[in-house]
This record gives sequence, structure tokens and C-alpha cells, in this order.
Amino acid sequence: MNMYTANGQRTVQLVVPSEAAMEGAGVRIRRALGIARLPDLDPFLLLDEIHSDDPDAYLAGFPPHPHRGVETVTYMLSGQMHHKDSTGGEGVISTGDVQWMTTGRGIIHSEMPGQVDGLMWGFQLWVNLPAREKMREAAYIELKSQDIPEVRVGETSIRVISGSWQGAVGPAPQRSTEPVILDVRMPAGSTCDLAVPAEHTAFVYTYQGQGRFGPEGRAAVVPPKATAVLSKERNLHVKADLGVRFLLIAGRPLNEPIAKAGPFVMNTEAELVQAFRDYQAGRLVVSDGASAA
Ligand code: FE
Repeated sequence: MNMYTANGQRTVQLVVPSEAAMEGAGVRIRRALGIARLPDLDPFLLLDEIHSDDPDAYLAGFPPHPHRGVETVTYMLSGQMHHKDSTGGEGVISTGDVQWMTTGRGIIHSEMPGQVDGLMWGFQLWVNLPAREKMREAAYIELKSQDIPEVRVGETSIRVISGSWQGAVGPAPQRSTEPVILDVRMPAGSTCDLAVPAEHTAFVYTYQGQGRFGPEGRAAVVPPKATAVLSKERNLHVKADLGVRFLLIAGRPLNEPIAKAGPFVMNTEAELVQAFRDYQAGRLVVSDGASAA
């Protein structure tokens, strides 16, 4: 495949600025995906960014809350997040680390800042689970910074969190949605060419600086803190006039109905009602191999 044929190139279809929002016990975030102005980007449901050096903006954290039917992927650029959950999973992720949590049929967890001052900068991405895996057992995995490969191509550096790039394979677990999560840093004036499977839904989030995405002549400027939805081709050409850091996120669409409310993501309204009932009745979390009610 010729990387430079125009018809193999992803173009920007939509650019939407992230929106200020409040989550957890009063944490100020920016919501990059999961906002009214963006379509669902199957299999992704939500992308939030915390970016603040004001402890009042993040210290309240995310006290115990339930989930079902989804995977939450937390990536820290700076600061610490202390996780504790109903499966016995517990740990602190800090600069460069990732927590990959598969909520399956149910988990109750807390996500609290592990620091009282300083810069807190990180992301949480929600990846949907296919219907046949929504009620699987919950799992909690930490991907440590030193286990996340960093590839340099020219002046561009690419951390491969999930999926693969130029022989480097990210440490994320294998999933039927085949998620690709790349953290890309490009200095001013540089260019790079990235590729993800052509059938994958793909978007970028420019968390610092801005860049031009798409082939020469048809590139779109994506400003800081914005989500750009990409067309379904294989290759992505990027030019960093001013320097840019962004996440490139891609995955195989599930093409299944979605019924979601708060922390639960199911396929039907009846399953959603059941999730709330199970939570209220204390049956969301099944431990020690006990069978589902
Ligand atoms: Fe959570």
C-alpha cells in the first residue's frame, strides 16, 4: 500500500472543542468525547481530561461508585491517582502509567488523587464491551510507564499504550475492539505519518498545542484541547506547525445497540434497569466465584 496516495489518507470530518464539566465529588475536567456535539465514536464512549495545578480542582476525587459493561482506561501524564476496587484491586498510578479496568458485570471503585498539591494531568477513556463480554468477570490491570514502548520516528515520539506501531506492541490487554491508543509528541515544524486499521473508528485529541491533520492540501487545523473525528482510511498525515501533543485513539466498531446511564453501559433498556436494581440490591459485584443472581 502506498502511504501517500490521497485516497488512503484519513481526513478530518469534524472538529469539536472539549467542554468544561464537573465529575466525581467536584473534580473539574474537560470532556473531549461523550458530549452532545459529537456523535458516538463506536466503540468509544467517553474521554475526559484532568489538567490542573489547583488542588481545589481535583482533590475531591472520585469516591466509591459502580460500573458495569464497559472498560475504563486511565492514563496519567503527571501526578498520582490511587485506585481501590471491590475485586481487591488496589494501586497507585503515576506519571506515564495506565490503569486498564474491565468492569465486566460489576465493580465498585474509588479513584482518588494520591497527592495534595502540584500538577495533575491525565485522561480517562471508556471503551465499550461487546454484548457477549458485558457480564464477564471484572479485571484490573496496571501498565507501568517503563513497560510502555516509546518509538521515535524522525523528531516525533510515540508512546504505544495499546495496539502496535512499527514493531512496538503496547502492553494493554487484547480486546475484540482491538483498541489503538498512541500518545504522540511532535515538535514545531515536524511532520509524521501514522497508520491504524482502515476499518477502525479513529479520532485525535490535541491535549497540548495544535496541528494540521490530513493530507497536504486537505489538512484541517485542530486547535488545542479539541477532538477531531477522522474518516475511515488507513493513514494519517500530521504537520505540527507550532508543536503538538495528542492522543490518537482507534478501535473496531461493535455496531451493537447502546443503552447507557451514568456508570452503566448496556445494550438494552431492560439490562440498564437490571444494572440499577443489582446495584441497589448489592448484587452488582460478585466475588469469590459466586454465581450471578
Ligand atoms: Fe470509575
